Amino acid sequence: MSPSLEIAVRVAGAAVVFGGMALWEWQAPRRALIVGRAPRWPGNLGILAVDIVAVRLLVPTAAVGVALIVTSRGWGLFNLIGLPEWASILIGVIALDLVIYVQHIVFHHVPALWRLHRMHHADLDIDVTTGVRFHPLEILLSLAIKMAAVAALGVPALAVLIFEVLLNATSMFNHSNVALPPWLEPIARWIVVTPQMHQVHHSVERAETDSNFGFNLPWWDRLFGTYRAKPSAGEQNIVIGLPIFRNIAELNIVRLLTQPFRNDGGAQC
Ligand SMILES: [Zn+2]
Ligand SMILES: [Zn+2]
Repeated sequence: MSPSLEIAVRVAGAAVVFGGMALWEWQAPRRALIVGRAPRWPGNLGILAVDIVAVRLLVPTAAVGVALIVTSRGWGLFNLIGLPEWASILIGVIALDLVIYVQHIVFHHVPALWRLHRMHHADLDIDVTTGVRFHPLEILLSLAIKMAAVAALGVPALAVLIFEVLLNATSMFNHSNVALPPWLEPIARWIVVTPQMHQVHHSVERAETDSNFGFNLPWWDRLFGTYRAKPSAGEQNIVIGLPIFRNIAELNIVRLLTQPFRNDGGAQC
């Protein structure tokens, strides 16, 4: 697979999902935004631009590159035990999802890593752009962890590409300000992390912030006891964000980039 084809697939997939979710939440929002789009979208999309330039386009190609090298040399667990290719792809995608679930918990509990990840949580509303709002250093670290997992397990390149496209798509989906029909929500929650499930993770209540860590598959939270069905304040009254960084001046891109290195929280609004 050529790197340019890989990038084209990733960009096209992300653009279609972003456009679709933005349209859906504009037409049928789950709840009224408190701060709204205008103060938030320039910063959130600016972060996406920084991430794209810094790492999103360059390093994932390296992750697929690692997969190609590992496969050609017969390295990694899946190759050592002679797993058929279809099984390596299926188990590879699921295993990478488990890796980022564990990584997400670690980013919540190790103070230096939480400083990077909390920028994602400091958004004062949650919508499709929150799903692309990750500090470039977090993206970089996360990709390094992914590359190590790909090498150790011997995950095929196709599985890495499928996982990356899925992760981008589900991140934008489950941060969107939309709701599935009430009959579908409980069924969908067994297959994919839904917007109403991930919303709990963005609650200002710390016990709720430390729940629903999954990005793609909802199974890990149920399996490891981190699942929380609803926010205690209720679906409509949940307060989004963190107790610090509640000033809308913090939504500026420069403030977003420097947030991990500050304790001030800005002036209160
Ligand atoms: Zn988190
Ligand atoms: Zn999130």
